[in-house]
Parts: sequence; structure tokens; C-alpha cells
Amino acid sequence: MRQPMEERKVSISRPRVAVDFPASFMLVASMNPCPCGYYNHPERSCHCAPGQVQQYLNRVSGPLLDRIDLHVEVTSVTYSDLSSTQTGETSTTIRERVMRARQIQQERFHRHPQKNANATMQGKTIQQHCRLNEASTKLLQVAMDKLNLSARAYDRIRKVARTIADLEEKQNIETQHVAEAIQYRSLDRENWSR
Ligand SMILES: [Zn+2]
Repeated sequence: MRQPMEERKVSISRPRVAVDFPASFMLVASMNPCPCGYYNHPERSCHCAPGQVQQYLNRVSGPLLDRIDLHVEVTSVTYSDLSSTQTGETSTTIRERVMRARQIQQERFHRHPQKNANATMQGKTIQQHCRLNEASTKLLQVAMDKLNLSARAYDRIRKVARTIADLEEKQNIETQHVAEAIQYRSLDRENWSR
């Protein structure tokens, strides 16, 4: 699973032949927060024993979590929110924003036909397109230390921050984009179950 997620291909090598199969895909996965399902629930309490939540989370390996761009915690919706008459953004509006961000990325990589989105950036391209200002660099350093993030998570945060900036059609990555991207690493955090 790790190689296709990282390199978007599956390599099979045998003594006489080595073949690469393209494997570019989008992985969407969900899990309960703990065995009983109520960890972090706004109204109900979790009945799991100490250590059980961490043990449950450990069933998904760190290197696999590392390779997932966005970790989003979805807590239950309250009745008042459900019955609210206020409407949010429509999918049509969101779609337009996504299309514009995709367009920006295609223009960014027009000289690199093998790249078409921020997610495909590696090494040098990350350095080139994900420059951080001083405040953002400091913020990310603090997050790396406090949340005990890996080098892979560090690159991922910068790429996600680039995408958030693209969605706002901003030329430069700003501090709030980095702050938002850090929030999407919630399962890397050591304090998930503490
Ligand atoms: Zn629980």
C-alpha cells in the first residue's frame, strides 16, 4: 500500500523482468475514534479503558497515516444544527473553487507533464513552490516539536498549505494556510488519546 500511495505506481520485479504499473488513485478511509465510538463526542462519554484508545489507533500503522494528506475528525451533528434553516455553501460554488485551484496547479506544472497537482510534488519542487515566510516557518517548527510530527508530515503540511492557498487564489502561502494544514494531521498527534 505504501509504494502506490507515495509513488503512484506498483513495481513488480522478478529476476528477468521489472514492470511498473500506474496506480494513481485517491484514498478515502474512515474509522471510529475508539472501540466504543464515543471518544471526543460532544455529549456522550467514552467508556474505553485507559490505553485502549491508543491501542485501537495503533492498528493503523504510523507510516500509513503519514501518507494520508488530510485527517478530519467528524463529530456528531447536534439537533439544532440539523434543524437549522441556515444554508451553507452549495456544492456548485465549491466545485467552481476546486476547478480554479486545479487550473492554477496545471499552470504551475505546465513544464512537468508527469505532475498535475500539488500532491505530486516531491523534494525540489516542494522547495520551489511551497516557500514559507518567517512566521509560517516558526509556526511549523513549533508544531513539529509539540505534535512530534515526522519529516514526511512536514512535507505534506507544506503541500496541503499550498493547496489551501490555491483555493483562495493566493500567490504566497500565508500563516493561516499553514495553521489550517497542521490541523489536518490530528491522527499524528501523540495526544489523540490522552
Ligand atoms: Zn471509547
